[in-house]
Formats: sequence, C-alpha cells, structure tokens
Amino acid sequence: MNQEIRIKAKPFYAVLVILAFLIIYSISSNRDCGDEEQIKAALEQSLNREAFHLNQKGPTIYAITPTYARPVQKAELTRLSHVIRLVPNVFWVIVEDAENTSQLVSKLLKKSGLNERSVQLSAKTPTNFKLQGKDPNWSKPRGVEQRNKALEWVRKHLAENGGREKHSVIYFMDDDNTYSTDLFAEISKIERNKVGVWPVGLVGGLMVEKPVLNRDGIVLGFNSEWRPERPFPLDMAGFAISSDLILDNPQAQFSYEVERGYQESEILRHLTIVHEMQPLANKCTEVLVWHTRTEVPKLDAEKVLQKAGKRSDVGLEV
Ligand code: UDP
Ligand code: MN
Repeated sequence: MNQEIRIKAKPFYAVLVILAFLIIYSISSNRDCGDEEQIKAALEQSLNREAFHLNQKGPTIYAITPTYARPVQKAELTRLSHVIRLVPNVFWVIVEDAENTSQLVSKLLKKSGLNERSVQLSAKTPTNFKLQGKDPNWSKPRGVEQRNKALEWVRKHLAENGGREKHSVIYFMDDDNTYSTDLFAEISKIERNKVGVWPVGLVGGLMVEKPVLNRDGIVLGFNSEWRPERPFPLDMAGFAISSDLILDNPQAQFSYEVERGYQESEILRHLTIVHEMQPLANKCTEVLVWHTRTEVPKLDAEKVLQKAGKRSDVGLEV
C-alpha cells in the first residue's frame, strides 16, 4: 500500500521540481530581459546613428596637430588619440615643435593603433618666435611653423593620391582642446570647395563663439566680442577646409607677419568669404568642441628632487 502511494507520488514530485525550475528560470530570465531592454534603450539614446555612419564612411579628415614637449604632452596626446581611435575616417598629421620627431610620440602612435593612419613630422619654431619662460602665451604666434609643415605634407600627399578628384577635409586640431566624436561627423559633411564652420565653446572671452546665420541659413558673421573687426573672427577649432581649396590655393598658409588673432583670417582669406561658409552642427546650435586649456602643473617638489638627483620618474615615461 505504502509502496503504491510512493510510486504514485513520484510523478507528482517530478512535476513539482519542473514547475519550481520553470518559475525560477522565468523570474531570472525576465530579469535578464529587463536588463537587456534597459541596455538597448540606453544605447539607442546615446548612439547617434547618423554620426556613427559618417565617422565610418565619410571623407578622410586630415587632422593637423602641432605639439611640443612639456610635462602634460603625453596626457594631451593620449586624450586626442582616444578620440581619433573612435573616428575611423580621421588621418592624424602630428607635427612636433622640435628638431626631430620623438620616441614619446612614435610610441604613443604605435600603442594607440594609429600607425596606419597617421604621420609624424617635426618643424621647430625659430628661436626668435618661440615663447620664452615668462612670456604670456598670446605674445607670439603658436603653431605657425608646424601647421605650415603639415599643409606642405598634405598638399603633396593629396597630389599623389587622387588630387582634386578625391574629396577630403583638412582640420586644425590643437592638442589641448576637447573634441566630441560628433564633431567629425559634422566635418564629414563639408562639401567640395567649401569651408565648414560651427560654434566653439569657451573661447574669445565667451561661453561660445559662433557663426550668426540668417533665416535662410547663410552665415552673416560671428558673435565674437574679441577683435570682431577681423575678416574671420573665429577660432582655429571652429572651421575645416575642403581639400580642393587647399590644392587650388597653394599660397594659403599661416604667417609670422600677422597681428595676434589673425592666423585664422590669414589662411581663410585665400579660400572663401564669410557668406559662402557652410554652417554645421545643426545650423550652428550645438557645441561639439571646446577651447579648453590645461593648467601648467606645479612641480616644485619635483625640482627639489631633481636637484638631489632623485627625480620621481626614473625609468617611467609620464
Ligand atoms: N604649440 C607648439 N609650440 C609652442 C606652443 C604651442 O607647437 O611653442 C602648439 C600647441 O601644442 C597647440 C597649438 O600649438 O597644439 C596652439 O597652442 P596653444 O594651445 O598654447 O594656443 P592657444 O590655445 O592659447 O591658442
Ligand atoms: Mn590651446
């Protein structure tokens, strides 16, 4: 009798175990499902599909970066390299303000996987134009020698790689600014024979310096407060140039001869007029680049150590 009950009860227990398993499974998979959906929703919100596509398929953007040896150099270039890694259509033209190219930069390019889409050049600023110890940073033009060297390289490289037929874009990307990956999607929209423009955050004494458009989206001018009388009163980070303009106007470059704040106007005067510039970043309503500046680190204790022959960075690259 007892045995009979036990035999009958067996399937009952089996069903119970299966049910319990199913309940636990469904609770846990429901939770997983909830997680997955949340992740998907978060991705959809953050992923700008258009930007992603343009950064994959857009024209080559030659990003020209002058750089010079100082304690923060590796930190600056690491930040920049990480942006460039995320934007496959950028080709990095890095020009060191030095007699020769450095190990620090070549190792950084190699390590960041950018070897294949970068070139490392050097062009030393002549001593009479180089900032000295206590000079305020605006007292002499910065990056002139390096940007011109890069332009020379780009012109030659373009001529050897499709010339005017192949559309690409040139952008001056200083090493201390802050760049959104979305900026490069905007730069990718620059048309042939055009100079693209957009707002730049934290520059010229303003929260944002930006092109002013009329109702038809034509650039009328800029909202600049600092030297608004300049032909092109905008920052270097606020424009990029279609490659055909660079090839058609070999005289367009930077100069030591111009007044402070006129480098942008100096190159642009050969290439375009304000009304013909191509407004980007959602009709110039979005800030995708900031003219940030890095504080000079205080290294008083380091100097004391160095005098005692006990520097903190022996055997490491900072
Ligand atoms: N730069 C350079 N040599 C110098 C000073 C600056 O190559 O002696 C580079 C610097 O790394 C940056 C660009 O020139 O990429 C502009 O310099 P900085 O950011 O100091 O200028 P600012 O932001 O004040 O216009
Ligand atoms: Mn800067």
